[in-house]
Amino acid sequence: MKVETAVVKEPAARMPATAPDGRRDLLGMSRAELAAELAPLGIEPYRLKQLWHWLYQRGATSFATMTTLSKDIRSRLEEGYFVGRPTIAAAQESADGTRKWLLRQNDGRDIECVYIPEEERGTLCVSSQVGCTLTCAFCHTGTQKLVRNLTSGEILGQIMTAREQLGENPPPQEGRAITNIVLMGMGEPLFNYDNVAAAMKIALDPEGLAFSRRRITLSTAGVVPMIRRAGTELRLNLAISLHAVTDELRDRIVPINRKYPIAELIAACRDYPVLERGGRRITFEYVMLDGVNDSPAEARALVRLIAGIPAKVNLIPFNPWPGAPFGRSPPERIEAFAQIVLKAGYMAPVRTPRGEDIMAACGQLKSASERARRTLRDAASEAAVSG
Ligand code: SAH
Repeated sequence: MKVETAVVKEPAARMPATAPDGRRDLLGMSRAELAAELAPLGIEPYRLKQLWHWLYQRGATSFATMTTLSKDIRSRLEEGYFVGRPTIAAAQESADGTRKWLLRQNDGRDIECVYIPEEERGTLCVSSQVGCTLTCAFCHTGTQKLVRNLTSGEILGQIMTAREQLGENPPPQEGRAITNIVLMGMGEPLFNYDNVAAAMKIALDPEGLAFSRRRITLSTAGVVPMIRRAGTELRLNLAISLHAVTDELRDRIVPINRKYPIAELIAACRDYPVLERGGRRITFEYVMLDGVNDSPAEARALVRLIAGIPAKVNLIPFNPWPGAPFGRSPPERIEAFAQIVLKAGYMAPVRTPRGEDIMAACGQLKSASERARRTLRDAASEAAVSG
């Protein structure tokens, strides 16, 4: 199998985002980085606060609109910098109101970002990488070969773009469309820790995007050392893509298990700081694969495994994609599994698949342009075979 770019196996260092013309992305720079950038330009520290306000609270993308900054400062910014946004390569809306955007980055790479409206909240599902190196057996993103980390600006750019698309730029004080962020889009956030951390610090900053820690969830397949680091430095809600209760099965369906087996993963969960803010729980995600991991015995093993951890178990009916080697567990089996987990004292909601008609459901994300290329290639090879 030919891999087109270097595969990101380990957490990579923070990436500066530089355009071909040498200008740098201001979106995603920390306050300290901004200060270091702007000091040589003779821009006073109090101007930083104004610039930050334009970037995050007002969502400005052109320096010309930043009217509290002098013309002189604006033109100096214009020379060396830009405010990053992807372009919208495609947008789809599901019958259930779920929206999916195919977002093209400055290098032409596409990622997907999904907005899921519910009665009490609106969740934005954000990507952390172009593609993913994990190759979980049931996940569509894992079949995309091209992988690179997103920059902190590209991660925040998804939130800013969704805000714009939802008509909330700047957002209202009350009743915002986007109340929650989940790092459950394309990619493994803990393989891109530095950029994810930088972006989330800005998302949490009261003068940045002002999200509360309880409303941001980081989902990981189990990069154990980075779970510990994220627990110290970010303390976001944690979701673990568990999906199996034995190493034998998990090695096969979530291959990172070969490096960080279940016992180590659960130990890291036990150490994750959840208790200090009363009632916070770790979410264990469990995709229900027909006849693979969905037996009552496995449900009982699951509750033994997580015993003592303040947790909830999210049961995700498998979302099929073309050529997927699994089927979705039937509703009765999911219900029986949920009952066992519930009886053991854990909440066990069954996730309603959202946006299935636009291939926006969990694990279906894979850039549409890649899908289109693949379809063309398949059509070409079929033609070659039959011709
Ligand atoms: N890499 C991270 C975040 C991305 S996946 C992680 O592994 O957690 C977000 C969730 O969707 C994970 O729990 C993932 O296992 C699940 N998922 C992937 N493919 C799926 C599919 N086809 N159906 C249902 N859930 C899926």
